[in-house]
Amino acid sequence: MDGSFDTKTFDDVIMHTYARFPLALERGAGCRVWDTDGRAYLDFVAGIATCSLGHAHPQLTEAITAQAQRLLHVSNLYYIPEQGALARWLVERSVADKVFFCNSGAEANESAIKLARKYAYTTRHISAPEIITAQASFHGRTMGAVTATGQPKYHKYFAPLLPGFSYVPYNDLAALEAALTPNTAAILLEPLQGEGGVVPGEREYFQAVRRICDERDILLIFDEVQVGMGRTGYLWAYQHLGVEPDLLTLAKALGGGIPIGALCAREKFAVFQPGDHASTFGGNPFACGVALAACRILEAQNLVANARLRGEQLQVGLTKLAQRFPEQVAGVRGWGLIQGLVLQEDRAVQVVNAALQQGLLLVPAGASVVRLVPPLIVTSTEIEEALDLLGRALASLRAPVLVP
Ligand SMILES: *Cc1c(COP(=O)(O)O)cnc(C)c1O
Repeated sequence: MDGSFDTKTFDDVIMHTYARFPLALERGAGCRVWDTDGRAYLDFVAGIATCSLGHAHPQLTEAITAQAQRLLHVSNLYYIPEQGALARWLVERSVADKVFFCNSGAEANESAIKLARKYAYTTRHISAPEIITAQASFHGRTMGAVTATGQPKYHKYFAPLLPGFSYVPYNDLAALEAALTPNTAAILLEPLQGEGGVVPGEREYFQAVRRICDERDILLIFDEVQVGMGRTGYLWAYQHLGVEPDLLTLAKALGGGIPIGALCAREKFAVFQPGDHASTFGGNPFACGVALAACRILEAQNLVANARLRGEQLQVGLTKLAQRFPEQVAGVRGWGLIQGLVLQEDRAVQVVNAALQQGLLLVPAGASVVRLVPPLIVTSTEIEEALDLLGRALASLRAPVLVP
């Protein structure tokens, strides 16, 4: 930034919750954003897998305007037509039968934890239900969601955490079996761990977990906050695994950039009754009207198929970069348009900064993985452009060759 944006005045009044990259963004169109100095960036972050339709999508903008002119907010004291229509869209396309709407991923997971506990109390008469989650998982920052998150660095300073959680290594069946107790109420997993380093789930593991849950009436909960809504080249990431969950949590891309979260449940587990759970903003006309428009655009423009095709192109290109820079890159992994460049060392922030210098926005996923999560509208030309810019960034980080 050359100084047209004053970071000092900003930092004076904003809590220091985030280590921010030194740019202020003020405008976007498609897969591109512009900073306050007018510099353009190719956006392969998309608000962390949130702006699936890119920025300022004309039809989404139109839906936002129309909904704002009609009705923003009422209350769940009343029937909200947009809420029913969005739930129907989700239910008709997923394993779920019933939906509860909230405002974020963390809240969707909180809702799942509460629902799983209620099911265990009322149906299985377990007085102290336990939930098993994975190490290196990420489920959000509220007390329940952060307890579910299997990363000690997010727990520091916030004890006492919620009781009733245990953590197992991801994709490790023996460890999971060893962690089961008669009080196990639910197993909460990401089909692909996003924040934890873009680590895909393994089919055999997930299929075995499904069998265990069926045998013991344990709820299988999938957190698809990051990987749902077409990101992986299927509408739901669980389609990669050939396994269906009992509860599914969504947020990030669901609203195309406006805040909304959802807990989707199979009929049998949808045991909330009036008074059990609620949210003032959850499922309001604005959020649901806009999210429904985002869902319809996703379908009308075949963006899930695009995510699959462009994802393959991206993975092939990243694999070539890994071969070109073996001293920096250890490998590539991911599904569809969530890909991780796995580095040899804990240098994700350096690579992201070097890419920023080249005009490409990327985001780390842990210390040693660089995550690429572009909008699902990304074109083949933009994929090539991003690969070229990332190649330049990696080249800029090479130790200078001393010419005698
Ligand atoms: C981002 C994320 C969350 C938390 O979502 P918020 O909207 O930030 O609360 C939960 N789970 C996963 C897998 C995520 O990627």
